Amino acid sequence: MNRDRDPRIGFVSLGCPKALVDSEQILTRLRTEGYDIAPSYEAADLVVINTCGFIDAAVAESLDAIGEALAENGKVIVTGCLGAKGSVVRDLHPSVLAVTGPHACEEVMAAVHAHLPRPHDPFLDLIPPQGVKLTPRHYAYLKISEGCNHRCTFCIIPQLRGDLVSRPVGEVLQEAEVLVRAGVKELLIVSQDTSAYGVDVRYRTGFWQGRPLKTQLTALATALGELGVWVRLHYVYPYPHVDDLIPLMAEGKLVPYLDVPLQHASPRILKAMKRPANADNALERIRRWRDICPELTLRSTFIVGFPGETEEDFKRLLEFLEMAELDRVGCFTYSPVEGAAANALPDAVPEEVKQDRQACLMELQAGISARRLQRKLGRTVTVLVDEHDAEEGVAIARSSADAPEIDGRVYVLDGAELPVGEFAAVRIVETDEHDLYAETVEKQESPRRSRQQGAARRRRSRGG
Ligand code: SF4
Repeated sequence: MNRDRDPRIGFVSLGCPKALVDSEQILTRLRTEGYDIAPSYEAADLVVINTCGFIDAAVAESLDAIGEALAENGKVIVTGCLGAKGSVVRDLHPSVLAVTGPHACEEVMAAVHAHLPRPHDPFLDLIPPQGVKLTPRHYAYLKISEGCNHRCTFCIIPQLRGDLVSRPVGEVLQEAEVLVRAGVKELLIVSQDTSAYGVDVRYRTGFWQGRPLKTQLTALATALGELGVWVRLHYVYPYPHVDDLIPLMAEGKLVPYLDVPLQHASPRILKAMKRPANADNALERIRRWRDICPELTLRSTFIVGFPGETEEDFKRLLEFLEMAELDRVGCFTYSPVEGAAANALPDAVPEEVKQDRQACLMELQAGISARRLQRKLGRTVTVLVDEHDAEEGVAIARSSADAPEIDGRVYVLDGAELPVGEFAAVRIVETDEHDLYAETVEKQESPRRSRQQGAARRRRSRGG
């Protein structure tokens, strides 16, 4: 390629007006990013062909066009309807650089970037490829959809953000790849309802790295699992298809961690909340998940004091917690949100009753969490180092059981030298109801710190 000029793309657009619109979008993006459009194969550094796969004649025309571009230029990216027809293109033309389906502007641009880097832009190039991130360099949130199809009566998110809109699977994976290349070691998958990913587009087939992939959570999670970093799923409802994720966790492809916002366990209250799940099923499902993946860490959040919640309902919630033995639990007292349907419900619970119930629930859960953490004593676990407490000479890290900001931490007592943003193997030497205390495994004789010191550190780190 002649480096004294901007990179040039040859473009062949075949097919119907819908394909033409796709071509226009891709050409617009190419021009916006500074690529020139070449008038001939010879003048191009790379050729994009938008194909048609409607009838046999259109298929033949598209395959001919690909063959011609390969012969004349050699570097060809295929997009459009023919790309969605399985391996038709690759079987005849195995040397094409990438194949995507229709309406796949992001995936085409990703393939172009991979084979013909974007020209330098003095303004845009000030921004790193992963964009501006507010999280530390080694972890990042990855949003896979926006909005929600449920209508929980305490929530106004669907009013604010609308119904579920899933991001194209190829676009999500492309973003994930960019983040991993930029040094991210942990991807935190978020949305309003992660398990519903793809419902709105009927699990449409997208493309990633030239291969077809469904817009569906298991397919997405499987592909993310290939990136070689921790992949952690948040806001997953216990729908039946979530069962398919658990074997991926047991195999180490996903972090064995699920954040499942259950909100209550009394069927009466769940109905009044219009929640998408049922508590008995949730319990049964949790048991099955743990049979498949005993290492699974479960986090959930609950609301106490919802309008109409009786002592009986609350007791049922406590019984559920005892049976479910969740690892991490957050509990909020119900408070009305302007515009929420629950505001119209009768039998508001007095504020002090709400507070008592919250304290009671958290006390019960503290014991459960402490027991579950205690089982880790003596085990060797992998942690990701978040930061150092220079004064104490400890590394503050997290295991796969700990999401940033919301869960506990692993204080590595002799970890002053452990690099931030890297994984390390540590042995657990002490536990409490929130955190773990550990030593690096390489050391044979690590200085044991006292329980009091550990507790003092913990109080400081929590600001009180
Ligand atoms: S609470 Fe969650 S599931 Fe329910 S409507 Fe709000 S965003 Fe949707």
